[in-house]
Amino acid sequence: MTRDTIVDQKSIRVKFWLYFSGMALFILLLLWLLQIVFINSFYKSMKIRDTEKVGRTVTRLFGKEDFEDTLLRYSFEKNLSLQVYNDRGGLVFPLNPLDYIYQPTISGDDFFTYFQPLLKNDKTEETYVADYKNENASTILYVSYLGEEAGQKYFLAVSANVDPVDSTVEILKDQLMIVSIISLMVAFILSLYLSSRLARPLSDMAKTARALGQGNYDVQFKEQDYTEINDLARTLNYATGELTDALEMRKDLIANVSHDFKTPLTVIKSYGEMIRDISGDNKELREKHTQTILEEVDYLTNFVNDLLDLSRVESGLGTLSLTDVNLRELTEEVLARFKSLKEKGYVFRIHGGGLMVCDSNKIRQVIYNFISNGINYSQNKKEIDIYIISEGNLISYCVRDYGKGIPKEDQDSIWERFYRGRDHHERQMVGTGLGLFICKNILELHGFRYGVKSAVGVGSTFYFQGPLGENEKGGTVR
Ligand code: ADP
Repeated sequence: MTRDTIVDQKSIRVKFWLYFSGMALFILLLLWLLQIVFINSFYKSMKIRDTEKVGRTVTRLFGKEDFEDTLLRYSFEKNLSLQVYNDRGGLVFPLNPLDYIYQPTISGDDFFTYFQPLLKNDKTEETYVADYKNENASTILYVSYLGEEAGQKYFLAVSANVDPVDSTVEILKDQLMIVSIISLMVAFILSLYLSSRLARPLSDMAKTARALGQGNYDVQFKEQDYTEINDLARTLNYATGELTDALEMRKDLIANVSHDFKTPLTVIKSYGEMIRDISGDNKELREKHTQTILEEVDYLTNFVNDLLDLSRVESGLGTLSLTDVNLRELTEEVLARFKSLKEKGYVFRIHGGGLMVCDSNKIRQVIYNFISNGINYSQNKKEIDIYIISEGNLISYCVRDYGKGIPKEDQDSIWERFYRGRDHHERQMVGTGLGLFICKNILELHGFRYGVKSAVGVGSTFYFQGPLGENEKGGTVR
């Protein structure tokens, strides 16, 4: 047997249909129970209440002038039998046989049975469901003590015949049967329709997801008529977008990396060949060619380092070891790596200082990138100013150069992966386009504010701002 031929009890369609039909069945059962099973007792208690009410009203009117008329009126209006007995069980009213419609008289034995509590003065009223010997249906009997007149005690008996409700029940049964069949059918069809309507978008989504899994990244999860399903569709579309982006990024990365490797490798190869074939004996030319090869190797080393940093930043995201870091000391440490540049006339000035709560290894990398960019794009103005300024609970770190600057429209893009300015045609030996992307990742991981202020031909200031270290708060800045 395949999955399609048996009923899948876990499917929304089947479950929904079962619940819905079950509910319809339950409501119908309840209706049957109330209408058919309880109708007799319901009818009886209603009749008892009615009889008692009339009995009490009439009892209160005893002694009034039109008492007998009242009795007659009630017997006609309410289809009841109202009788007055004396304390020996003699019928006092009605005596005229034309005055009553239905009159089961209470015979001697029955009288003493039912009126006993009243005769003994235990009670003033009592209600019975009586089964007289000569009647086949039961009778509701309300008896009460009316009062005394001329030394004679009088009692009231109100009787109501409990009509058999069987015929009514039969009619109801027939009606209910029709109602039940129709409503069950409606519930059955409606639930079948609703459940498949509800389940369809979900199975559509499963189909789309399967297509996505098979590598079709153009799929779109369709929004439907249900809020929850729309939420799901939106989330899945978002996830698909992210997945596509990640795949795009992987493609870009491979393309960029292979391109960036290919060019220096070609250069190295051709200069190597030139040394072998042409400049081998010419010291001056050979040194020039060797220098080019060394520069390309440096570039490659630099590039590989950046790639390693990148993968470290991306895989190690979320792990920060925060301490109070002395930014001035950290900067001096970084500047030591640029020592050779000082000999070439570069001037580095550090202004201010202070502690920042950050991950020192990661922030060292940011500082390194900011400063090396400052150097790379400084052109002839070989000066870099570093400002460490605390304001309130925050401390800012700024690297300022006086180089070529960045056009306004590029100031957002420079933080992207592999972005290297607009002059792509010009091969830039200096950069890999990864430095600022790495910085961005690190600074965002810290939750720091960061950015660049720059004007073409004037220079750039790269900055970030983080929380001031504990020891510095309220204290002085070195
Ligand atoms: P790169 O390795 O190319 O320097 P980055 O991510 O560090 O990569 O920088 C991206 C681009 O931003 C650079 O190629 C350059 O065009 C621009 N840029 C970065 N820093 C500066 C700066 N201080 N002055 C001018 N342009 C800069």
